[in-house]
Amino acid sequence: MKLIALPAFSDNYLWLWQQNQQAVVVDPGDAAPVLQALSDHGLTLVAILVTHHHADHVGGVQTLRAATGAEVWGPAREDIPGPFTPVMAGDTLQLLGQRVHVLDVPGHTSGHVAYVLPDAPDSPVLFCGDTLFSGGCGRIFEGTPAQMLASLDSLAALPTDTRICCAHEYTLSNLRFALAVEPRNKDLQAYMAHCQQLREQGQPTLPARLGTELQINPFLRARHPDVRHAVAQHAGLAAAAQDNDVAVFAALREWKNDFK
Ligand code: ZN
Ligand code: FE
Repeated sequence: MKLIALPAFSDNYLWLWQQNQQAVVVDPGDAAPVLQALSDHGLTLVAILVTHHHADHVGGVQTLRAATGAEVWGPAREDIPGPFTPVMAGDTLQLLGQRVHVLDVPGHTSGHVAYVLPDAPDSPVLFCGDTLFSGGCGRIFEGTPAQMLASLDSLAALPTDTRICCAHEYTLSNLRFALAVEPRNKDLQAYMAHCQQLREQGQPTLPARLGTELQINPFLRARHPDVRHAVAQHAGLAAAAQDNDVAVFAALREWKNDFK
């Protein structure tokens, strides 16, 4: 099994999951890089997985379906280019010899789903779209902070060696914000240096490891005393709000929205 991050637009990755001569693509916002990779590697596309309805995730679906006949799976509660097979939390697909679990992870959009391969060789794999990023999380466009926090909690409960395949290369800018929140976090400082080196070499910073994210990602650490304290200071939270996980998380997300 091989995972390939195909760059698209300015900072998207279209994930190609390859097994022998077959492939599955996740969130093909553009068909061209996928068709190119299929022909370069002599692959047959058997399925398209979609996490949410945004154009940079579904823009290539129709062209790819027409060109390859691949079956499309997508969130039951969102409007994506049909026909597609709707999926929701609790569903399990069988693709390329792997079980694929579906999780509901609302927040970025209201029907956003994620796909987990619990038995993937070496370690589990997570395709999480725009919910969790390395060092950050998606903007809350349609859901609520409470939903996004619950979604991130469900991802944080996966095995720590899970490989996180996010849909954007936002890592360095996320880490600049993370360091503003936790300037003394040694794991974070080391991870920033590591990711800077990868980017200087033109390499993706992804997949990230969940175990690393738990050490460095402020949005997975919103209950940590250091993060809570930094948010309370920045946002001037009242004492009651400082003890409210959702209020702290919401203020952290707003801080990031305004961060330059
Ligand atoms: Zn999106
Ligand atoms: Fe996106």
